[in-house]
Amino acid sequence: MITVDEALAHVLQRSTTLPSRTVELRDALGRVLAHDVVSDVDSPPHDKSIVDGYAVIAADLAGGVAELDVLEEVVAGAVPTRTVTAGTATRIMTGAPLPAGADAVVMVERTELLAGDRPRVRIADAPLRSGQNITRRGAAMRAGQVVLRAGQPLRPIEIGLLAEVGQARVDVVPRPRVAVLSTGNELVPIDAQPGPAQIRNSNEPLLIAAAERAGAEVTGLGIARDDRDDLRRLIGQGLDADVLILSGGVSAGVLDLVPEVLVELGVQPVFHKVRVKPGKPVWFGVLAGKTANTLVFGLPGNPVSSYVCFELFVRPALGVLAGHADWGLVRVSGLLAREHRQRGDRPSYHPALYRSGEQGNTIEPLTWAGSGDLRGLSAANALAYFPAGDRVFQPGEPIDALLLDERIGRAEPPKKI
Ligand code: AMP
Ligand code: MG
Repeated sequence: MITVDEALAHVLQRSTTLPSRTVELRDALGRVLAHDVVSDVDSPPHDKSIVDGYAVIAADLAGGVAELDVLEEVVAGAVPTRTVTAGTATRIMTGAPLPAGADAVVMVERTELLAGDRPRVRIADAPLRSGQNITRRGAAMRAGQVVLRAGQPLRPIEIGLLAEVGQARVDVVPRPRVAVLSTGNELVPIDAQPGPAQIRNSNEPLLIAAAERAGAEVTGLGIARDDRDDLRRLIGQGLDADVLILSGGVSAGVLDLVPEVLVELGVQPVFHKVRVKPGKPVWFGVLAGKTANTLVFGLPGNPVSSYVCFELFVRPALGVLAGHADWGLVRVSGLLAREHRQRGDRPSYHPALYRSGEQGNTIEPLTWAGSGDLRGLSAANALAYFPAGDRVFQPGEPIDALLLDERIGRAEPPKKI
C-alpha cells in the first residue's frame, strides 16, 4: 500500500493548471491572475495634497509665522489656475492637485482666515519643510510599471489595484468544475426521513461545501444506487467536469462497484488504497479527454474518511488546477495535551483541538467514535498526526497537526495592536 506522500505525488503529477479565461473584474476575486499587469497611469496622477489646508512656498514660513494672500480655492477634481508666488497661498482640499509654485501644504487647523476685503490667511506652523503634506506624482506607481505578476491570487486589495489601473476585464485561471456523486443503496436525500437501515446522504453537501471552499464551481449529481447501470449513467455525467468526486463503493464489499465501472468507462486507475487512517480505500484515476483530463477521486463512504481524503488529496489538486502555488493545509506543531494511544500499521489523522497561546501551542486529541463520527469531528479545528505503530503518546510530547481552518485555533482573541 502506498503512503500519503506517494499518493499525493501521483495526484499532483496529474494535476495541471487550467487554461486562462477573461472575466469581468467583479468575478475575479479568489482567482489567480494569468498575466502580468502594467499600470496605464501614474499614481497619484499629479503632486497632490494629503490634507485640507493651504498650498504655500515653504520658504515663506521660514520665520514660523506668515500672512499670505489667498489666490483661489482648489477642490479634488479641479485643476489649479494660479501660480503660487512669494507671499501667496492657495486654499486646497485633500487629493487636489498642488498648484504650480507651491512646495508644501499647511493643515487648515494651523491657519486662521483674516478679516478684510481680500482673502488673507495667517499661518503659524514653523518650521515647514519643502514637500510637507504632499504626495508626489507617481510615488505609488508609474505608468508602464508592472504592478501585479501572473500567478498572483486576487484578494480584495488586488481587485482594487486592478480597478485603479483600468483592468475592467482580466485574464485569470478559472474555477475548476467539480461534480460530486454519492453512491450507496442505504442513502436517502437529506430532506427525507431515513427508513430502517437507511441514512441521509450527508456526504454530498459536505463534499460540495469543501470543494466550494477550495474555490471550485460544483455540481451535485445526487445518489447512485450500487448498481452498474445507475453508476454508469451518473458517472458518465460527472466525467465532463475537471474533477469528479465520488463517495462510497470503493471498499471490499460485494456492492463496491465504483472502481470497475470507472475503468469500464475509460478512467485509468492510478492508485487504490493508501496507508492512512481514516481513508484507506481511497481510489484515484484519470480520464484522458480530447482537450482536458478529468481527475477522478473515489472517496470512502464514511463521512470523516471522505473529508480527510478530500483535504489530503482533492484539495491540493483543486489548488493546482486553479493556479495556486500554495495549496497545502497549514501544518502546525504543538505539545500533546493528553495521553493518546495509537495502534495499527497506518499513520492516523485524529480530530483534535489546536490552541496557540503565550505559553506555546498545544494539540488535544478529541473523543471520537471513528470514521462515521462527523459530530466528533465538528468539535475539532485540526487533525493530529500520529505515525504508524503501537505506542502510547504522553502528554507534553511534541506532535504535528493539520489545521482544518486557518482562522481558528487561537486560545485567545488576537491582541489589539
Ligand atoms: P462504503 O464506502 O460505500 O462502504 O460506505 C461506508 C459507510 O459510509 C456506509 O456504510 C455508510 O454508513 C457511510 N456512507 C456512505 N455513503 C455516505 C453518504 N453519501 N453520506 C453519509 N454516509 C455515507
Ligand atoms: Mg457503499
